[in-house]
Amino acid sequence: MKDDYDVIVCGAGVMGAAIALGLTRLGRRVLALDGNDGDLRAARANFGLLWVQGKGYGKPDYQALSHEAADRWPRFAAELEAQTGVDLQFEQRGGLQFCLGETQMAARAERIGTWQTQLPSVASCTEMIERSALMRMMPDATLGPDVSGASFCHRDGQINPLKLLRALQSALVAEGGTLIHGAPVSRITPEPGNGFTVQADAQRWRGAKVVIAAGLGSPALAAMVDLDVPLRPQRGQLLVTERLAPLLPYPASGLRQTGEGTVMIGVTQEDVGMDMNTTTMAAAKMSRKALRILPALSQVGWVRQWSALRIMTPDGAPVYAQSTTHPGAFIALCHSGVTLAPIHAGPLAAAIADGALPLAFNFFHQRRFHVSQAE
Ligand SMILES: Cc1cc2nc3c(=O)[nH]c(=O)nc-3n(C[C@H](O)[C@H](O)[C@H](O)COP(=O)(O)OP(=O)(O)OC[C@H]3O[C@@H](n4cnc5c(N)ncnc54)[C@H](O)[C@@H]3O)c2cc1C
Repeated sequence: MKDDYDVIVCGAGVMGAAIALGLTRLGRRVLALDGNDGDLRAARANFGLLWVQGKGYGKPDYQALSHEAADRWPRFAAELEAQTGVDLQFEQRGGLQFCLGETQMAARAERIGTWQTQLPSVASCTEMIERSALMRMMPDATLGPDVSGASFCHRDGQINPLKLLRALQSALVAEGGTLIHGAPVSRITPEPGNGFTVQADAQRWRGAKVVIAAGLGSPALAAMVDLDVPLRPQRGQLLVTERLAPLLPYPASGLRQTGEGTVMIGVTQEDVGMDMNTTTMAAAKMSRKALRILPALSQVGWVRQWSALRIMTPDGAPVYAQSTTHPGAFIALCHSGVTLAPIHAGPLAAAIADGALPLAFNFFHQRRFHVSQAE
């Protein structure tokens, strides 16, 4: 048996690494065990948006959580950068969702209006921008004739997600946490009154608490502590262009220019099981839409296409829960792991350290899917 820890976190993607970092900053002895390079890893293949607008439509708790994350981002990014020296390419100047045609513009305005009235405290964060004003906001870009305008949320932003992951993992180790790569957890054994034994390959460790944050690898581990979350993969494909001069001053849903100058074009939403292939059909569809927004992209070479699988719960909102039958075993899953990283390193880590998820997290329990084992 290896050393004892206060908390063992299974999975060190953007979710697990953020929780482990937060717990370490609270003075807990933390071990984060990450799987193998062949694992499905959304943290290494996502779009890098810090997205608030429209998030939590019909779910005010999720909406409020996203807003709280947006509040926390500037300080969280500054601390991570200062501690690790990693330039996260963090920006929070606002984000756009382009509308192609007046019908889309009207539908977007209605949806954003409804979404804003759900949470009156932040009702003025998003506005509809007409084409002429949009053109003034984007002096280096020529918008296609189909663009009628956009919704613009002042609180949206972007980041380099790979650098975020690196910074979270580096900060975790710098704070005294232990991170082991290539350690896929195969068994979690509850030891009544004495925490949990966690096994990866031939090694075993004891932890007073255990957190399952292994993305799509989570259901198999969760079943060992009577946590059962329905989860489905959802494929997202992206295109990346060659590096360009500054063109897009704001990130947009499905279109953003990275700190290096490449333009990311995306993102599909496909229910195809564990299929990670990229398809010409998706490339054509994404390109067609991007060209209607920015026709100049037709002259640009694209250098890469990739796909990754989202970690989707039935309603798309996160799950944060503790096992009823095995208290001390937690699960954390979501498909906005970049946006919500300051929540995971902050209030969620604090709640796990305390041993109970507070009322503010009530909505996120998996009981909303009527799973009987959960508390
Ligand atoms: C195409 C696409 C675009 C996206 N765009 C955005 C975006 O713009 N903004 C945003 O906020 N979110 C975005 N997301 C979602 C975001 O990437 C995920 O929410 C986030 O990566 C989830 O982090 P995670 O750590 O839970 O899972 P992952 O990143 O998948 O990490 C899981 C980790 O667990 C490890 N693991 C698996 N099994 C085991 C095991 N048995 N033992 C130990 N470790 C294990 C894996 O090796 C991996 O490191 C996007 C996702 C996709 C697919």
